Amino acid sequence: MKKPKRVFLLGASGMGMAPLAFFLRGAGVEVEAFDDYFREPLRSQMLEAGVEVLLEPVPHKKPDYIVHSSAINRSDSRLSLFRGTTSKIYKRGDFLAEYSKSFKTVAIVGSHGKTTTTGMLTWALAKEEFSFSYLVGGRFKEDALPIGNYQNSPWLVLEVDESDGTIGGFYPDITLVLNYDWDHVDEYKEESSLEHTLQGLLSRTKSSVILPGKSDLLSWADENLGVDVSSFEANHSSADFMVSNWEAAKACGRKMGAQLGEESSKSFPGMERRQSVLFEDEHRTILEDYAHHPTEIGSLLASRRKLLPDHWMKVVFQSHRYSRTKAFAQSFAEELGAADELNLLPTYGAFEKYDESGDAESLVGHLPPRLRDKTKVFLDYTSFVDEVYETENPLTPEQVLFVGAGNIDGWAHAFAAIHTHKGDRISAFSHFLSGRLSSSSVLRKDENLASKTTMRVGGKALWYAEPQHTEDLRRLVEASNFFSIPRVMLGRGSNLIIPDEGYHGLVLRLRGDFWNEISSRSDDSFVVGAGSRLKDICRLACHRGLLGFEFLEGIPGTLGGALRMNAGAMGWEIYDLVEWVSFLLPDGSIKEIPGNQLNVGYRFCKEAQEGIALRAKLKAEGRSDHKDIRSAIELLAQKRRASQPREASAGCIFKNPEDKSAGWLIEKSGMKGQRVGNAVVSDVHANFIVNEGGATAEDVISLIQQVRKRVQEEVQVNLEPEVGLLGKKWNDQLS
Ligand code: FAD
Repeated sequence: MKKPKRVFLLGASGMGMAPLAFFLRGAGVEVEAFDDYFREPLRSQMLEAGVEVLLEPVPHKKPDYIVHSSAINRSDSRLSLFRGTTSKIYKRGDFLAEYSKSFKTVAIVGSHGKTTTTGMLTWALAKEEFSFSYLVGGRFKEDALPIGNYQNSPWLVLEVDESDGTIGGFYPDITLVLNYDWDHVDEYKEESSLEHTLQGLLSRTKSSVILPGKSDLLSWADENLGVDVSSFEANHSSADFMVSNWEAAKACGRKMGAQLGEESSKSFPGMERRQSVLFEDEHRTILEDYAHHPTEIGSLLASRRKLLPDHWMKVVFQSHRYSRTKAFAQSFAEELGAADELNLLPTYGAFEKYDESGDAESLVGHLPPRLRDKTKVFLDYTSFVDEVYETENPLTPEQVLFVGAGNIDGWAHAFAAIHTHKGDRISAFSHFLSGRLSSSSVLRKDENLASKTTMRVGGKALWYAEPQHTEDLRRLVEASNFFSIPRVMLGRGSNLIIPDEGYHGLVLRLRGDFWNEISSRSDDSFVVGAGSRLKDICRLACHRGLLGFEFLEGIPGTLGGALRMNAGAMGWEIYDLVEWVSFLLPDGSIKEIPGNQLNVGYRFCKEAQEGIALRAKLKAEGRSDHKDIRSAIELLAQKRRASQPREASAGCIFKNPEDKSAGWLIEKSGMKGQRVGNAVVSDVHANFIVNEGGATAEDVISLIQQVRKRVQEEVQVNLEPEVGLLGKKWNDQLS
C-alpha cells in the first residue's frame, strides 16, 4: 500500500475508527473525520491531535484513502461521491490489514476481553518505555492513555476485530487468541466458521502464536503450524478473567522481548465501561459493564457475586443487536438467571433494523420462573428511575449492575448521578454533564434572560446552555430527558416574552461559529446553521446576486426561530426558500426532512415545534445584479422604518386574522397608546407593544389581555398571539 498523505475517515467516532485517527495523525497523515454522532471528550481530543473534524461528510481536500467504519454499508450514498475517482475506498479492517503489513504486527483477537487485554499490554509496554504503536478498541479509564498512538517503531499492537469479515487480510508477526465463542451470527452462520477464521489467521502468522491452554485451537496449532506456539492459563468461564487477561498480555510481551512487571498490572487503570463502579455507599453499589455476550455476562455476574456475596444483585440489561439477542436468547436467559432481579431495556439495534423477535421482551420467556416474576421491561429512563430509585435504602444492600454495549452507559451514569446528589435532579443534571460537553460550551445556572430578547423583560432561566456543536446539544437534550428537566429553545428572542418568574428548566441557545455557518453551494443555495442571523443570510445572498432572500432583511431573528415561526414579510415566507431542514428529534436522532414534506402553516411549523432545527438548505429564486437586489432591500427597509416602532418590542403581538390586519383592528378598537406600566401599544403600529424602559413581563401580559378583550368587545374578533410566552401557554393567560 502507498503510504497515505491524506485520509478521510467516515463514521470516525466509533471505537474501531477513532483510534485509527490518532494513530494516523501521529504518523504524520492529514486526517479529516466525520460522524453523525461525535461525542465529547473524543471530539475535543481529536481536534487537539490535529484531526480536522468535519460538519459534513465531504472532505475539504482530496484524500488518498477513504476509510469507513463497518457500520457503514458500501452502498452508502456518502461513499458514492468518491467512486470513479483516484481516492481508494476501504473498510476500516481492510485498510488496517493493508497498512499494518509494513509493521511487526501483534494481533490480539478473541470473543471476550480483547479490549482489556490490549489495554493491559499497551499500559505495561508503555510503563517499560518499550517503543511501539497501538490501536485499542476502548477508552482507558480517565483517559490515562490515548486510544491510539504512533511511534517510530517496527512494532504495532492491534486489537483485531473478527466481527466484520476483514480479519482475512491480516498477516501478523504475533497472534494472541484469548478465547473464542460463537458470536456475530450475521458473519459466522455456524460455530465452526469462527474457528476456521481463527485458524486462517494463525496460519498467516509469521513468528509466534499464543493460545489459551487446553483449547482445541492449541492442539490444532501444535499439529499444523510451523511457527512458535505457546499458551497461557485461561480461565474465562470463571470469575477470574482479569487474571487470565494479564497472563495473556504478559505472554505477548515476552514474545515481543519485553518482561512486563507485576506492578504494571496493579497500576492498570482499566478500560471504560469495564466493571466501572459509578457509585458506592452502604446501601447500593452501582456498576456498569460492557458485557454483551452470554459468556461475558456469566463471568461478570459470577465475579460480582464473589465480591459482594451478601448484596442483592439487581441487573439492568440492554442486549446489543437483534440478531445476537435472537440467536442466544436461551443462553442470555441462563446467564442472567444468576441475578436476583432483572430490568430489561429495549435492545440496542446498532445498525440493524428493528426485529421484534430479538427485542428485550423476547428474553422473558426463557428466564427461570423464579426470575420471571422479578423481571420488568422499561421503555424509558424516567419510569425506570421513578421505580428503582424509590427503593433506596433497601433493607438488604444491593448492587445494581448496568450491563450491555449499547447506550445503556448514559442510563448508568444518570442513575449514579441521582444517587450522588441524593435524588436532587437539578444538581444531578449538571453533575452528569460535567466532562460530557466540549470545554467551550456554556452551561450556567440562574441566567438572566431579559437581555437575550428584544422585548427586554422577564426573569431567569434555571439552566442556560450554549452548546458548541450538535453533539453537545444532543447531550443536553439527553440529560434533560434523564432528569425530567423541561427545555426550550431560544433564538434571538425577537418573538418571545419571558415571564417575570423566568423559566424553571433548561434554555438552549445556538450561538457560536458552528451554528452561524452559512456555506454557499454551487446550485445557488446556502446551507445555513440555525443560529445564523436572518440579516446575515440576506446580506450574503445580496452579495452573491441571489434573489428571494430580500424579505429577511428587517426580521431580527435567527434561522432557527424563523423556521419555527415560519417567519415572513411582504408576501414571502421562509419556507418558500427551504429545500430541507435537519432536526434533532427528542429521542436524540437527527432527521433531514425535505421542505415539501414539512407541516407548515401561518407562523407555524410542526416539526420545528417538536424537534430542534439544526440547519437548513435555502435555495435562491434566481439571480440578479447585486446592485438591483441592494436597492430592493433598501426599499423594504425604508417601508419598515416608516411603519414599525424603534423601541424594544417583540414584533407583531397577534397573528393577522384571515383577510384582516390585527394592527388595524387594534387601532379601530381605540387601543393605540394604551399603557400598563411602561408597556405601551405603539403609536406607529398598533400590533406592536413597546417597552419604554423598565416594563415588566406582567405589564406586557396584562396589556395583551386588555387589547385582546377590547378587540373582542369592539369588533368581535378573537386575536391569537403570534408572540411566544416562554414556558407557558397563552390559553392559560387569556380568557
Ligand atoms: P425566538 O424569538 O428566540 O424564538 C421563537 C420561537 O422559535 C420560540 O418558540 C423558540 O423556542 C423557537 N426556536 C428558536 N430556535 C429554534 C430552533 N433552532 N429550533 C426550533 N425552535 C426554535 N416576524 C416575522 O415573521 N415577520 C416580520 O416581518 C417580523 N418583524 C419583526 C420586527 C421586529 C422589530 C421584531 C422585534 C420582531 C419581528 N418579527 C417578525 C418576529 C421575529 O423576529 C421572528 O418570529 C423571528 O423568526 C424569531 O426568531 P428568533 O431567533 O428571535 O426566535
